[in-house]
Amino acid sequence: MTATTYDLMDLDEVLEKFDPVMGLEVHVELATKTKMFSASSAEFGDAPNSNVDPVSLGLPGALPVVNAKGVEWAIKIGLALNCSIAESSRFARKNYFYPDQPKNYQISQYDEPIAYEGYLDVQLEDGTEWRVEIERAHMEEDTGKLTHLGGSAGRIHGATASLVDCNRAGIPLIEVVTKPIEGAGERAPEVAKAYVSALRELVKSLGVSDARMDQGSIRVDSNLSLRPIGQQEFGTRTETKNINSLKSVEQAVRFEMMRQAAAIENGETIRQETRHYQETDGTTLAGRIKETAEDYRYFNDPDLPPVIAPAEWVEEIRATLPELPWIRRARIQQEWKLSDAEMRDLVNAGAFDMITETVEAGATSDEARSWWVSYLAKKAKEAEVDLDALAVTPVQIARVVALINEGKLTNKLGRQAVDAVLAGEGNVDEVIAKHGLEVVRDDGAIEKAVDEALAANPGIVEKYRAGNTKVTGAIVGAVMKATRGKADPAQVNKLIAEKLN
Ligand code: ADP
Ligand code: MG
Repeated sequence: MTATTYDLMDLDEVLEKFDPVMGLEVHVELATKTKMFSASSAEFGDAPNSNVDPVSLGLPGALPVVNAKGVEWAIKIGLALNCSIAESSRFARKNYFYPDQPKNYQISQYDEPIAYEGYLDVQLEDGTEWRVEIERAHMEEDTGKLTHLGGSAGRIHGATASLVDCNRAGIPLIEVVTKPIEGAGERAPEVAKAYVSALRELVKSLGVSDARMDQGSIRVDSNLSLRPIGQQEFGTRTETKNINSLKSVEQAVRFEMMRQAAAIENGETIRQETRHYQETDGTTLAGRIKETAEDYRYFNDPDLPPVIAPAEWVEEIRATLPELPWIRRARIQQEWKLSDAEMRDLVNAGAFDMITETVEAGATSDEARSWWVSYLAKKAKEAEVDLDALAVTPVQIARVVALINEGKLTNKLGRQAVDAVLAGEGNVDEVIAKHGLEVVRDDGAIEKAVDEALAANPGIVEKYRAGNTKVTGAIVGAVMKATRGKADPAQVNKLIAEKLN
């Protein structure tokens, strides 16, 4: 594929001239066992078209039945986003043809969403908080999945054949739509990323979605427009579809700012269109001219009754909300006695969950933190992977810490054990046995090594006896060498003192 070249305006110049306005639509796939309107499995990754039934295939006469869990979880998400919950809401038909949607309409909510008017406070990297206003969170069903063969980068353009898999058709989705986000200026890309990141963390902590962006269980459409500084009305927006990673969310916003600004400067009119994010080079390509709501011919789905959510039920669900991730983080920060900066570093390094899990497995927060933010962070960097992708688990690290505290491993032996676990040689106890990494406890062997080291270093012995008790480092070093690092330094020091006093 020949790379498309764009006229782009430098970001600094964009910000001198324009004010970006953003709107984010995030689709969250719920982790229900079955689909939103039928009993087929909602499992990811099964053989194509094995999880289908008359409803998800849109066969004539098939009738949808609402998945109560799907509704409950929609309410849960709405409540966590500080939304009002509609006591009565409706499913509508959004009519359009696409080969991955056999009914020719998608069941969605239109003018009566289940949750509306909320907000999410998100943390930016420097610690400032940004409130993103939520317009609505509504229920809908996912479409099937098309795989295009023969084209480049999986695009339909240039493809010779396309395959339809309806396993995904009918899986419950919650679409969370923000109000226009104004005034973010140069931070617009960062706000977009932080918002999606917070929302992802939120739905994961609610236990309603696996929140795997790489598997498409969270998909983002990012709307962006520019207005000249000082102008009141919004400019025309483009909508970049199906963005699949946090990094891409940030890049898609940044790219559209630079592309639209250059286009406007060249006297072009921005069209309200969908655009496709290109993973390969971080650009966006024009898609279709955006339909207006009228084009979809929305009407209430006559096959489905209104969704009734009595206040008592909503309150019952509210009572099941877990401690929200950022509140939990603030509480733990206090417990661990960390400064804001220390906490932020640890969160940005992706170490927070690893450390909490290590603490849950028995280590103190200082012990856990020291492993994850120094030694293991270094190992992750060397391997160019995230901390949670390392081949050592928090439970294993807690085991190493416990063995060090029991005096069975030295810090150095502990690191050797972790290295072996990272190399895939087994769990902590296995690699210790395999490499004989335990601290030598046999007093006889250590005593012999101490005697030999003292005999070999008469000068040091003399200085020690003359009152300089700080010179024993070389003796300890020699003993460690003789025991191949397996002696306990504290024990060695004790023996030396006994012998020389
Ligand atoms: P659609 O049906 O076109 O996807 P939605 O209402 O679902 O429309 O989502 C549109 C999103 O774009 C919302 O987040 C909204 O706040 C945002 N938005 C609306 N107008 C603008 C604009 N001019 N510039 C940027 N974002 C906008
Ligand atoms: Mg939309």
